[in-house]
Amino acid sequence: MASVHAYDVSVLSDSDVSRVLVVAAHPDDIDFSAAGTIAAFTEAGIEVTYLIVTPGDAGGFDPAVPRSEIPGIRQAEQTAAAKQVGVSDVRFLGYSDGRVEATLELRRDIARVIRQVRPDRMLIPNPERSYQSMPGSHPDHRAVGSASLDAIYPDARNPFAHPELAAEGLEAWAVRETWLTGGPQPNHYPEISATFHRKVAALRAHVSQIVNIEDLEGMLRGWMGRNARAGGLPEGSLAEAFQVLDTA
Ligand SMILES: [Zn+2]
Repeated sequence: MASVHAYDVSVLSDSDVSRVLVVAAHPDDIDFSAAGTIAAFTEAGIEVTYLIVTPGDAGGFDPAVPRSEIPGIRQAEQTAAAKQVGVSDVRFLGYSDGRVEATLELRRDIARVIRQVRPDRMLIPNPERSYQSMPGSHPDHRAVGSASLDAIYPDARNPFAHPELAAEGLEAWAVRETWLTGGPQPNHYPEISATFHRKVAALRAHVSQIVNIEDLEGMLRGWMGRNARAGGLPEGSLAEAFQVLDTA
């Protein structure tokens, strides 16, 4: 995958990565921020797992749909979206949409999946508020980003943290590299022109969420084009944007 670094950061080569764990607050978050890159990962033979903290039960726009049906609808949409980019391992934690806090319990639940999956690389939301993007700064995104980073360091790698995990037979695991989506200082812009159609297909699977978006593909081309320009890629390229952290 071609990529450009805006400032010096050493990014693991995809050929040194076997497993990736992606954590998000809501169904559709991953597809807006990272599905093009994830499609390239799975095409390269990397195993990818999704961990979605809430079923998006505060989402949807159609008042005729009973609210009790929303979690099932959105989980099915996310599962279908994942298939479009080669991901079949999709896990849900069942926290309540709009009420997520970076609690010890959430840290433990994310650390548990880190120890189960043993990823080389993780993709997680930015824990900081951005005054440039209110939707990107949704409180659930910030809480999930913060709990994920704490689960990466120290919880998952400290064998004595959350002793119930060791009691479940889960050994400590250190994640070598973490990519923030929507981070304050993006430093990695993977080119996604070759997988853009798969990203669009993944987003179209979120039927309940995109009903009000008139030109989904055009909107995405605009955003991904802006990322490519920020990353110094040739005119006409499309890219996603990440802030890569060394968490080894
Ligand atoms: Zn979200």
